[in-house]
Amino acid sequence: MYCKNCGKEMNDNQAICLECGYKAGDGDKHCANCGSQLAPNAAVCLNCGVATKKMADGGNLNGKDKITIALLCFFLGGFGVHNFVMGETKRGIVRIVASLCCGLGCILALIDFIKILLDKYEYDPEKLI
Ligand SMILES: [Zn+2]
Ligand SMILES: [Zn+2]
Repeated sequence: MYCKNCGKEMNDNQAICLECGYKAGDGDKHCANCGSQLAPNAAVCLNCGVATKKMADGGNLNGKDKITIALLCFFLGGFGVHNFVMGETKRGIVRIVASLCCGLGCILALIDFIKILLDKYEYDPEKLI
């Protein structure tokens, strides 16, 4: 993986680029796959052919159907069912614990639900909330 802002090679586990401080995946000047410089607004890296922008218009449900995930989130979101379906085990467990403690899981699920509807939800198996 390469920093998309400055093109420096990054460890896959790195959260930010040590060279420029950008978050992993942020920036649009370099290809994350090969590190070569990109033309402004290029959709595909001309060097390696990898798509440089996230597919779809924002939001990432790990390839799952938006309607299905939205319904699961609405009805069962307090128990993190939509998170488990997408493969976000950690987030799902946090939802369950939060629900059992004080019903907070339902609030988190409601936030997820709105994000899913607005295509703002970002699938991330490492995130807790
Ligand atoms: Zn950088
Ligand atoms: Zn490339």
